[in-house]
Amino acid sequence: MEDEEVNKMTNKEAIKGLKALSKEFSGYKPNEDMFDMAIEALYKQIPMSVRTTTSTKRCGNCGRQLSGIGNLHPERRYCVKCGQAIDWGKS
Ligand SMILES: [Zn+2]
Repeated sequence: MEDEEVNKMTNKEAIKGLKALSKEFSGYKPNEDMFDMAIEALYKQIPMSVRTTTSTKRCGNCGRQLSGIGNLHPERRYCVKCGQAIDWGKS
């Protein structure tokens, strides 16, 4: 973690703030969509654990195959299909 990251608001904090703020703007569809999009984008930046099947590692969000079980690609930090940040875990 770089020093400049220390005082930055985390994605989870930003999501919490946006959800609270969105209530003030609810009842108008474009506003609701806007908040949903912002919140979804923030969620995708929070690394999500890969899903392990018997022979593959898959995106925890959309299920796309990311690697074979013994052939991980930890340099791939984002799902190529949905853009979800990936947490490969310990292996
Ligand atoms: Zn995905």
